[in-house]
Amino acid sequence: MVDELARRGVRDPRVLEAMGSVPRHLFVDEALAFRAYEIGTLPLGLGQTISSPLTVARMTELLCVSPGMRVLEVGTGSGYQAAVLARLGCDVYTTERLPQLYRRTRALLADIGVTRVHMILADGTLGFPRTAPYDRVIVTAGGPQVPRPLLDQLDENGIMLIPVGDPHSQRLVRVVRTGGGFAEEDCGPAAFVDLVGNHGW
Ligand code: SAH
Repeated sequence: MVDELARRGVRDPRVLEAMGSVPRHLFVDEALAFRAYEIGTLPLGLGQTISSPLTVARMTELLCVSPGMRVLEVGTGSGYQAAVLARLGCDVYTTERLPQLYRRTRALLADIGVTRVHMILADGTLGFPRTAPYDRVIVTAGGPQVPRPLLDQLDENGIMLIPVGDPHSQRLVRVVRTGGGFAEEDCGPAAFVDLVGNHGW
């Protein structure tokens, strides 16, 4: 998988190392484990999907993290993206709105000894003010606009990645908070499940 990611343009050696060391087959349904290291999305149940390894790699690169950073994730899903960020030394606060997925992933992360991921059962479009501000925010579901609470909880010089647009056809937007304002950059097409919530669909 890592060789294929490198062939497809993923350059950051730290990202490749992290993705090579998190056992992705444990994050997917047992019946689909044989496909865990292919480049593609897989169903998680409950109408949700685990993002393709290529999407995770690209988003992780665009997020430009370094050890010790505090990252807010919206959309825990399988927990794979959060585990990759934890492997890179980040303290990850990740929100999931579906109790069933939240419970399953919490048990998995505890089982495999991932400690830097803090899981929160909540509507992540409201952010998680208790531990704000965050150096980085990563939204792994697509909504109609950038939720205001997430902008407010982004630290100065912080970076946020979020797919914005119509259901299943979005643009990945990178927002940088600079000197009292926000700079937006289009990072290309994206296709994520719906961001459902107060500031989502
Ligand atoms: N990062 C995930 C991808 C998960 S798919 C992974 O690595 O597997 C997107 C997830 O976002 C789904 O689990 C969905 O339930 C969740 N989601 C959608 N809207 C949400 C919201 N408002 N708050 C928290 N989670 C949300």
